Amino acid sequence: MTVRVRFHGRGGQGAKTASRILGNAAFNDGYFTQDFPIYGAERRGAPVTAFTRFSREEITERGFIFSPDISAVMDDSLIADTLANPFSGLRRGGVAVVNTTKAKGSVVPGRDDVKSVCLDLTGQALKTLGKPVLSAGIAAAVARISGINKEALLTAVVDELKDIGLSAEMVQKNVGFAAAIYGELSPLELKTEELDAREELVPLAVVVSEGGIEAVTQAGNSAIRHTGNWRTFRPNIDYEKCTDCMMCYAYCPESAMAVGPDGRVKIDYDNCKGCMICMVECPLKAISQTLEGGA
Ligand code: SF4
Ligand code: SF4
Repeated sequence: MTVRVRFHGRGGQGAKTASRILGNAAFNDGYFTQDFPIYGAERRGAPVTAFTRFSREEITERGFIFSPDISAVMDDSLIADTLANPFSGLRRGGVAVVNTTKAKGSVVPGRDDVKSVCLDLTGQALKTLGKPVLSAGIAAAVARISGINKEALLTAVVDELKDIGLSAEMVQKNVGFAAAIYGELSPLELKTEELDAREELVPLAVVVSEGGIEAVTQAGNSAIRHTGNWRTFRPNIDYEKCTDCMMCYAYCPESAMAVGPDGRVKIDYDNCKGCMICMVECPLKAISQTLEGGA
């Protein structure tokens, strides 16, 4: 059987690296493998998709995975995001692996034919690594439930994270993170069946021209696309310290800083994506962060 895994994350969480770690781990365990991301408008916080296939037989499929056996969701805010649509095409009998603190029971709306595995990966990453980077943890979760050998996984974590330039200390912390997640889970039997693709079609608000090129026809539509649900961290302004110097306004990449009617700088939480550049740049350290969801 070919196991098809689709990773859904946000820019900066490590979806692409997770797909590489899993592919490398499967290869170390003797599988044929493929791994690749969708490249596009890379942007911190934006939905990112990456894929891994592995099989004991040679893999002849190519291209994006539209019908995964496992959908690995690194941010539960993506579940309701129709542009990410992380469970689209998830096969009957498949598994949804979700980073969440909220879910109880099934996390796949309207689907009792798939299994759910819920983990607080962000909480564990913050404790182990000090930052919400989830590549090693989510790859470990998928490796474990699909039966990949632990040593094969940990070797892959080291190889891939060294390859992207992480320090030896950070690589070792990620090895600990992966080993902990691996130890929490057990293999799951994957007996999957493809869905009728028509059941899963999602209408997209685009127009296909006669030449076959999709066109966005509504001007100034970026204001409609709120990015507030991309946040892992929420910035908070301490108005006792803030002098309204407007440095945060100048540095915010989303134009999510505004001036309120009282003349004070304000955060537009509908569009703040939680990059925390404002906190880093504030000369008076008047901005702090809290974990979104209050953990
Ligand atoms: S950079 Fe800091 S001090 Fe300046 S306006 Fe923003 S929060 Fe206030
Ligand atoms: S965290 Fe700060 S800099 Fe980043 S989008 Fe929000 S307001 Fe702007």
